[in-house]
Amino acid sequence: MTENKFVKERNKKLGEKTIEAFKKRHFDAYFCNDKEEAVKTVLSLISKEDVIAWGGSTTLAELGLADYLENNGYKTINRDKAPDAQSKQKCAYDSFFADIFLMSSNAISEDGQLVNIDGLGNRVAALAFGPKKVIVIAGMNKVVKNLQEAYTRARTYAAPCNLQRIAAVANSKTPCAVTGSCGDCLSSDSICCQIVTTRLCRPQGRITVILVNEKLGY
Ligand code: SF4
Repeated sequence: MTENKFVKERNKKLGEKTIEAFKKRHFDAYFCNDKEEAVKTVLSLISKEDVIAWGGSTTLAELGLADYLENNGYKTINRDKAPDAQSKQKCAYDSFFADIFLMSSNAISEDGQLVNIDGLGNRVAALAFGPKKVIVIAGMNKVVKNLQEAYTRARTYAAPCNLQRIAAVANSKTPCAVTGSCGDCLSSDSICCQIVTTRLCRPQGRITVILVNEKLGY
């Protein structure tokens, strides 16, 4: 057996435990063995009648979900294709009225809580309220022991990684963009403005969590 197989076995056991924890908190939840199964599960939960929006996510990009939906006749709101800032803002507002909102999570605790950080807040706002259904897809690399570790992961790992992506197009000069380490900045271009813990899902089943036994996003 390779080490990777042991990691997969550990993650399968932990994933199934975490799925049960999400269900106790009134989320719908699924465990998928790989990316292909995750995409099939998402497609089983949506229809071509639904208006589908999403938050910026490396996980979604790695799954190829946006491209698939756009190329296969689904009704989408694609902020990335909006030609200017005003159109992007309209897409963000329109997303609150979507039937389905797709996103990942910056961190997940083993006891079934989501931790997410946003700059503008459109993604965490849609997670909390608005779209009829939210589907959160996350690799097992996002699952950590408890809420404190989830908070630490989101702040000291996910956000600085996300800033590298943003800095590549926006010339951001936050401490993490320069050093890779969070400096707990008060910068006007900080992406750490809203830090949201989703402790329970209400209404029951509005949020579906799909855990994937692969490394996805960061
Ligand atoms: S340095 Fe600022 S933008 Fe970067 S992770 Fe820390 S608080 Fe967020």
